[in-house]
Amino acid sequence: MTAEGEFDLIARLAPFLTGSGEGLVIGAGDDAAVIRVGDRDVCLAVDVLVDGVHFRRDLSSFADVGWKAVAVNCSDIAAMGATPTAAVVGLCRPDDLPAADVEALYAGMDEACRRYGLRLVGGDTVRAAALALSVTVLGDVDPDRAVRRSGARPGDRIVVVGTLGAAAAALAQAVRGAEPDRDLLAAHRRPEALVEAGGALAAAGATAMIDVSDGFGADLAHICDASGVGATVDADALPAAAGVAGAASALGRDPLDFVVAGGDDYALVATLPAGVADTTAAAVGGVVVGEITAGSGPVLVAADGTTTDLTGRGWDHYRAGDRT
Ligand SMILES: [Mg+2]
Repeated sequence: MTAEGEFDLIARLAPFLTGSGEGLVIGAGDDAAVIRVGDRDVCLAVDVLVDGVHFRRDLSSFADVGWKAVAVNCSDIAAMGATPTAAVVGLCRPDDLPAADVEALYAGMDEACRRYGLRLVGGDTVRAAALALSVTVLGDVDPDRAVRRSGARPGDRIVVVGTLGAAAAALAQAVRGAEPDRDLLAAHRRPEALVEAGGALAAAGATAMIDVSDGFGADLAHICDASGVGATVDADALPAAAGVAGAASALGRDPLDFVVAGGDDYALVATLPAGVADTTAAAVGGVVVGEITAGSGPVLVAADGTTTDLTGRGWDHYRAGDRT
């Protein structure tokens, strides 16, 4: 654990990243960067999975880890409203990791690539002290149609597609030494990237979008920060994954801890103009959970009217290294 959180570190590194210039459509600070290549916009997303931090070998197979490395990047591409096209992989391999396990990692990546219609086109393998996997995914989107985090406006409705809390609840069970619920654990092992929903939300006029990796509250806060707006969220409307309430009860935890702050969900959170939000949500299997306001930061409203500030509620890997 370091003295600084992940978001603090990202802020310190920002000056080294090119924020504008010819050919750059969207720089750092969104789910993916976007560059103009010819008459197309190309999205770039990268994610690193480290043994013992982002996955545990007793909970995930090597094929699961390979799947997840591709799927979580496809989720970032989906959050731009783009379609994944190609991936490259960097693998840090300890000397004692058998070739058959590396093969299983690649088989998992291949499965996810087939699922989401992209191709694994290259990579690099190096010797290292710990097993880590870095996958970069490229995505394709019509020029200037990528959906940013910064376009939410007061009055827009907040739509969530997918479910929340499953992966975090499974990890909490495992940390407690309990056998994780099979369906909850599946969400941790093999998250689904909602690529079709992302495209449909973009086509319907989504003003902002993000995928839920840090936690619903923290990720909605990213939209609020980037857009300069606030948000109110109806706690009862949040789509908790089946089994989360039961798991929370058995663990003596508030299910909202998992639903709002758990992370690793890869649901999509989009903001849409009020006039199209209900029909769009219905069309993509999502739900309207709240509204963008002129305030600052997201606020959760319980059925009894109690409010909770959601700003910063989520999983910061650097501060919560004991969570896996
Ligand atoms: Mg993301």
